[in-house]
Amino acid sequence: MQLKFGMNQFDTSRVFCIGRNYAEHAKEMGAPKPSEPVVFMKPATSLVREGEPLVLPKDQGSVHHEMELVVAIGREGRDLLREQAPDHVAGVTLGIDLTLRDLQAKLKQAGQPWERAKSFEGSAPIGTFIPWPAKFDIQGVEMRCSVNGALRQQGNTRDMLFPVAEIIAFLSRHWRLRSGDLIFTGTPAGVGPLVAGDRITVESLQIGDFSWNVV
Ligand code: ZN
Repeated sequence: MQLKFGMNQFDTSRVFCIGRNYAEHAKEMGAPKPSEPVVFMKPATSLVREGEPLVLPKDQGSVHHEMELVVAIGREGRDLLREQAPDHVAGVTLGIDLTLRDLQAKLKQAGQPWERAKSFEGSAPIGTFIPWPAKFDIQGVEMRCSVNGALRQQGNTRDMLFPVAEIIAFLSRHWRLRSGDLIFTGTPAGVGPLVAGDRITVESLQIGDFSWNVV
């Protein structure tokens, strides 16, 4: 997918995602606090732009919303130090890491990879990116997720177990980061099911508000 914002234009092929990055969410999932970032990936074909319909998988159990800060990488980087990481960020937005929760539970129990529960078509809606650097602290982003007007999730990126700079440094030790890579940085507590007919909104005073209709 091609992304354009500010002076930037990127071709995105990879979407990295961080699991269990907020203690309260790890707790609601009955999972221990991780000692290093939990990483999985979605293909760029799972991205859905703001306003496009969210088509949920049928007959595969519950689909949960996970509101997340999403970071776009703007510069190649390998083996980065934490201090170098901010220079590699080109933009931020909010996104939703859609998750087939029942299927994920089954896969976890069987000790299998999460791909089918996480990387399905349409599983990664993203808002419009705002260019980075901006005039706010990336670890002070207040965000809310509501469904049909009812508040479901409220969080602040200050509560991340692994802050954005640490995530970027960690990922760059395993992959050469490329311009256009996206990183979903984990969800605060309050995840819950979506059904056809719902309208979901993620919003942040610093970043903006983005909505999708679920079909
Ligand atoms: Zn997530």
